[in-house]
Amino acid sequence: MKEVKPSKKPLIYYYFIVLIIVLLFNMLLMPMMTKPSVTEVDYGKFMTMAERHQISEVQVQDQEIYFTSKDGETIYKTGKMDDPNLVTMLRESGAKFSQEVVDTTVSPLLSLLSWILPFVIFIAIGQYMSKKLMEKAGGGNSMMFGMGKSNAKIYVQSTEGIHFDDVAGEDEAKENLSEIVEYLHDPTKYTEIGASMPKGILLVGPPGTGKTMLAKAVAGEASVPFFSISGSEFVEMFVGMGASKVRDLFKQAKEKAPCIVFIDEIDAIGKKRDGQFGGNDEREQTLNQLLTEMDGFEGNNGVIILAATNRPESLDPALLRPGRFDRRVPVELPDLKGREDILKVHARKVKVADGVDYNAIARMASGASGAELANIVNEAALRAVRDGRKEVTQADLEESIEVVIAGYQKKNAILTLEEKKVVAYHEIGHALVAACQSHSAPVQKITIVPRTSGALGYTMQVEEGNHYLMSKEELENKIATFTGGRAAEALVFGSITTGASNDIEQATKIARAMITRYGMSEDFGMVAMETVNNQYLGGDSSLACSPQTQADIDRMVVDMVSRQYEKALGILRDNRKKLDQLASFLYEKETITGDEFMSILESEDPSAPEALPETEQE
Ligand code: ADP
Repeated sequence: MKEVKPSKKPLIYYYFIVLIIVLLFNMLLMPMMTKPSVTEVDYGKFMTMAERHQISEVQVQDQEIYFTSKDGETIYKTGKMDDPNLVTMLRESGAKFSQEVVDTTVSPLLSLLSWILPFVIFIAIGQYMSKKLMEKAGGGNSMMFGMGKSNAKIYVQSTEGIHFDDVAGEDEAKENLSEIVEYLHDPTKYTEIGASMPKGILLVGPPGTGKTMLAKAVAGEASVPFFSISGSEFVEMFVGMGASKVRDLFKQAKEKAPCIVFIDEIDAIGKKRDGQFGGNDEREQTLNQLLTEMDGFEGNNGVIILAATNRPESLDPALLRPGRFDRRVPVELPDLKGREDILKVHARKVKVADGVDYNAIARMASGASGAELANIVNEAALRAVRDGRKEVTQADLEESIEVVIAGYQKKNAILTLEEKKVVAYHEIGHALVAACQSHSAPVQKITIVPRTSGALGYTMQVEEGNHYLMSKEELENKIATFTGGRAAEALVFGSITTGASNDIEQATKIARAMITRYGMSEDFGMVAMETVNNQYLGGDSSLACSPQTQADIDRMVVDMVSRQYEKALGILRDNRKKLDQLASFLYEKETITGDEFMSILESEDPSAPEALPETEQE
């Protein structure tokens, strides 16, 4: 593979600029500085001055006559005339006149110096600057201005380094990586039998699931140096710099072996080389260098490369082949048990009141990543401080989940009473539809306190345990639950509001996925119409079907959502009394728990208010 040399171009530019400055200096400034000023006068004035004995010295040249005034301050020049009386006139004027030349030019030595000296000075400055910059970059090697140095941060292992205990809930990943730790501790056990460790291990998973933590934990457990660099740090403006950074990183790592090199966000350099027009030369060269380096070192030399990405599908296949990143460790979002453990790990750092039910919190925080859970614990601690308490309580943790999901409570609620009524019916609509269907998660909490995220209220449903598979009925019920809010508005007020925009988006997403990806439509059966592009980052998908089919899909999505809307409307119509009762309760209280909700739903209390009173005028 072609070796890429650091660019020499900046140095050439520098010398070019120096040359221009020297030329300008000699052409414009030097003549001004070296020539004495000469005043040009006419021959008449010369004659007058001679007659008046005002001239001290005269020098006659081929074409010109130079003369100096008596006071010696001014040099005059005039054109030479064919004047036969010139000598007589000069003799009478008393001036000295000789063949000696009044020196108007610069001495040859000075002129030579004027050319050479600036060059010498500029070259010296240039050399000094480049030397200084290289020293600053940490090495006296030949790289221009130290631009090819890798700036990997080295974490030398310490007693309070991160260990596997600090990473909760990623048991499979930990098990996978503990083999590496064992190898780093005792390589002979592996080499004796002829086994070699994978050179590279790729940690893949959504953001915030603890990939960086796991890599640090491996280094912490194995007590070896840990080099950490982000993929984006290799990407440089000058072509070839990234590649030389890779070389430098591997050189350093080999010197410190056994050690761990961690490359975060490796997709920044490891993207597929698709050869498209406008491809990124620099990135490809960097990737090539990385591939070469990984091939270049022997297995079992003690350097283990860990890399993390949340876009594994975009990586170049050459990077993933055996001998490079041949082991892939998934680091997924934590399940219920995992979430509970992560909460406990982070709760160790704060003072928590006795009897906090982590399981309940973990259930409420379904779908949260490790980083979000860490954030929830921290928010709870901040809330406790704000309230002047010394311990974090269950209520703090519950409230902070809502903060992470929906933002802070808006203190100065701006809802009119009419709006509040609509929101109450809307939220109860969701909750009632969910509760009246058999395959829906129980309602945990309903609130109509506006949040800073813009939500005017929300209904929190919490699954009892882990949920890995969803049946067609469950998905349909979910769509019905999403449409429940709008259905309640239409049923009660006969008009609809903008409050359902998020519900509509969610319902459509599910319906579309059911048809295009989960094979849950009669027309298409088990044919995929859509492919997911990046499963860990929001799951964008692209359609892979004819325009005709796309139109069919759109129609089927509309059908599916309207069918569920009708179902929701039916449920609410059948339970109109309960709808009114619950909405008026929520309107009064603003927040109700799942238990309160269920007890009103199941009670047969005829005294309960039938409907909300007519809104009073504000
Ligand atoms: P990633 O590299 O996957 O984006 P990080 O490893 O940087 O995520 O995690 C960010 C933060 O989230 C960590 O500093 C830690 O506080 C918290 N965190 C994430 N996952 C876990 C976990 N499994 N156990 C404990 N803390 C976690």
